[in-house]
Amino acid sequence: MRLIAIDLDGTLLNHRKEISKENIKAIKYAQSLGIEVIISTGRAYFDALSICKKAQISTYIISYTGASIHSKKGEQISSIPMNKKDVEEAIKYFKEYNFYYEIATSNGIYTHLNSREKLQAETDMIKKANPELDATVLQDTMEIQFNQSGFVFFENYKEVLKKDEDFFSMLAFSFDNFKIKTGRKHFERMKHLSLFSSGSHNFELVNSLASKGNALEKLSALLDISLDQSMAIGDSHNDISMLERVNYSVAMGNANDDIKSLCKFITHSNDDNGVAHAIYKFISSQTIEDYDLSDISLA
Ligand code: CA
Repeated sequence: MRLIAIDLDGTLLNHRKEISKENIKAIKYAQSLGIEVIISTGRAYFDALSICKKAQISTYIISYTGASIHSKKGEQISSIPMNKKDVEEAIKYFKEYNFYYEIATSNGIYTHLNSREKLQAETDMIKKANPELDATVLQDTMEIQFNQSGFVFFENYKEVLKKDEDFFSMLAFSFDNFKIKTGRKHFERMKHLSLFSSGSHNFELVNSLASKGNALEKLSALLDISLDQSMAIGDSHNDISMLERVNYSVAMGNANDDIKSLCKFITHSNDDNGVAHAIYKFISSQTIEDYDLSDISLA
């Protein structure tokens, strides 16, 4: 084992969106053995970086679902932005169908001034129509969405399009299942774009050449590490491209059945240090219980 690629949400992060001490220690342990650890996320680079900094871990970061790769020093190694024309077309669709949407660029996560109020209104309507629904789940999911770092609010999308920045990904979010389904169908037809989903309430658009798997392949070649000696850990649809390419594919205990069925191994859930369990199992044949965690000190 020479390389471990780890997804963030639903994988390395627990439901409070934090990296547990056990997971931090396991990553540092792997790194102390010379194993290259890579964070691979749909999040924006600066957002993923702030999460890693908070946990005091330093790794290569694949961000925007593979559209960008950064070194530990923060140098951009690869960049596959969307065409601005595709971005504009998508914005027009999202506006027409009243979607909450975000545009993630190299500098920020852009969203419309009123978008949160609109999403809240849509959520209230759904709650009203489905009183049996657990409203706290909807509310929590929404709060987590708003918890990313780097939000910039705009009044007119044309201001955003004028910016000289790389437009890496767009995210549409709704609790209206029909709306999400219809939106997915619409964008799946577009050749320039790839559509990924990291949850049942969203879909994400990136350049069709970008995926976590493509990015991992590029980075492993650069590091001269074979994917046969690599592990990937993930929980959802946007992880499939990297899980399929590595020798050691690990699904989280909280992953959907379709992800579990394509992986060789299944670890514990994200709230039960699934990443740490997987790391200890494969690199030292020990379990988290019999590994002396006090040996691994924080930087
Ligand atoms: Ca995930």
